[in-house]
Amino acid sequence: MSRKIAIVGAGQSGLPLALSLQARGDEVTLISNRSAVQIAQGKVMSSQCMFNASLEIERRHGLDRWGRLCPPVQGIGLTVPHPAEPGVKLIDWAAPLHDPAQAVDQRLKMPAWMDLFQARGGELRIQEVGVPELEALAASHELTVVSAGKGDITRLFERDSSKSTYDQPQRALALTYVHGMQPMAPYSRVCFNLIPGVGEYFVFPALAPSGPCEIMVFEGVPGGPMDCWGDVSSPAAHLEQSLKLLHTFLPWEAARCRHVELTDTHGTLAGRFAPTVRKPVGYLPSGRQVLAMGDAVCVNDPITGQGSNNATKCFEVYYQAIVQNGNAAFDTGWMQSTFDRYWDYAQHVVRWTNSLLAPPPEHILKLLSVAGQCPPIASAIANNFDHPPRFFPWWTDAQACEHFIETQMKEAA
Ligand SMILES: Cc1cc2nc3c(=O)[nH]c(=O)nc-3n(C[C@H](O)[C@H](O)[C@H](O)COP(=O)(O)OP(=O)(O)OC[C@H]3O[C@@H](n4cnc5c(N)ncnc54)[C@H](O)[C@@H]3O)c2cc1C
Repeated sequence: MSRKIAIVGAGQSGLPLALSLQARGDEVTLISNRSAVQIAQGKVMSSQCMFNASLEIERRHGLDRWGRLCPPVQGIGLTVPHPAEPGVKLIDWAAPLHDPAQAVDQRLKMPAWMDLFQARGGELRIQEVGVPELEALAASHELTVVSAGKGDITRLFERDSSKSTYDQPQRALALTYVHGMQPMAPYSRVCFNLIPGVGEYFVFPALAPSGPCEIMVFEGVPGGPMDCWGDVSSPAAHLEQSLKLLHTFLPWEAARCRHVELTDTHGTLAGRFAPTVRKPVGYLPSGRQVLAMGDAVCVNDPITGQGSNNATKCFEVYYQAIVQNGNAAFDTGWMQSTFDRYWDYAQHVVRWTNSLLAPPPEHILKLLSVAGQCPPIASAIANNFDHPPRFFPWWTDAQACEHFIETQMKEAA
């Protein structure tokens, strides 16, 4: 039986769900507050690095259009500058990923998926959805899913204080999309630089509308020297500020940037938000219920590059739950248990991501340092970005971490 489903928000979780349900014959209404053209011509929104398990979900649903065009991210590296000796690296290692990651600019991806949805006969409405519009959707559809990212409408879903560690932004964020950066050899990678007390900088290859590029991501500790975007008034000034930070804190990264230029005048972003987990079921004044998906229900700081991956894994759990529900009603119990299935996975991502926003405990400092002499440890850390539950228990349990280090060192020897 075909189900009648409304999806609010055409982003990394909403569009794949809309397209997959449409492909199995459901009647899907998709509502976006921005048209495909507005998204394509707008500002960058994310750095959207996606690891293999997430890319595999997109491939399985026939949604990959960029696999051959997008430069691969073949590894992950970690560098910590020496606190007392400028220009010297205290920690410096890299490990290949078993399968490459990829980052396709959402300004390419979302408009193409919106066009595909419409070309297949799907109903796409361009509208800012508020509570009255949600009421109308919930009254006329069997299920209404809210995948509105960080949009205001997500406040309909109560913050879950038992699952949310922070109530304030933990980093000042900035993105700078550039062409002309010197590539990493012998393999491309996410170069993750951790500057204690200042923040983090990571950079990796991606695909923008103007072609292959590198995305620079700055994560500044609030109030610190990397929290410096407030007075930046133009894209050129944003690039200048980005390069200034690299020259000050990470000269080896500045050296790669001698010939960089912005991909386009919309290739910059600055902002901040508090990592938040919300209750998945939203109650409308009429008593009708709607279900939150992706960032709308669980938004993490981008420090671990998991948001698009989470959005994809969340959509897949929700899609399977809709299929398995057969002809039954999408009631509160179904909504809660569908989220709970996603939370079985996402709780580990949240815990790991939040841990990186706090000063690292001794065992993590040791782990990150030892990884430089022990390739299996470096490989485990790098490849666990694809499946963060594998970080546990040793990421948070000092004793388990010691045991993990010992066994990996023995194996490496
Ligand atoms: C600086 C930065 C860097 C990032 N880097 C990475 C990374 O490297 N890897 C990674 O995996 N993730 C990354 N992310 C996170 C990732 O981009 C998001 O987690 C992901 O896009 C969430 O998908 P979503 O479907 O929940 O929401 P979105 O993709 O944000 O889509 C939500 C959509 O809903 C629309 N909308 C909002 N309100 C309404 C409304 N009222 N009515 C109708 N439509 C509405 C929005 O316009 C938007 O199109 C990053 C995020 C930031 C901010």
